[in-house]
Amino acid sequence: MAVAINLSFEEMWEKIIACDPKYDGLFFTAVKTTKIYCRPSCRSRKPKKINVKFYHDIDEVEKAGFRACKRCQPEVDDCPKMGLVRDIIAFLVNQYNQRVELKDIANHVGVSSYYL
Ligand SMILES: [Zn+2]
Repeated sequence: MAVAINLSFEEMWEKIIACDPKYDGLFFTAVKTTKIYCRPSCRSRKPKKINVKFYHDIDEVEKAGFRACKRCQPEVDDCPKMGLVRDIIAFLVNQYNQRVELKDIANHVGVSSYYL
């Protein structure tokens, strides 16, 4: 499983209100009333906060009975490297207040600094 991103409900809520595409794939917004889940950047009308549940794992959200949004297609990966990119973003977000060097990121995701 990919690295879970270290954000609170409030922080994730802010990301989806801002339609921030940096967080696509890192978490999913599931709407209890519509049984649909979205990418954070989805431009559809925002659900009521009380109806929202966040998932970090697409398998979990599917298992919970939610269907992928037709508009933002959260189940579709933009490119084959997205898994790696997501891991790196999650790592950086989790370490944002610490000094991170390229080799730390490379070690974390299991590729060479050169490749990265
Ligand atoms: Zn959507």
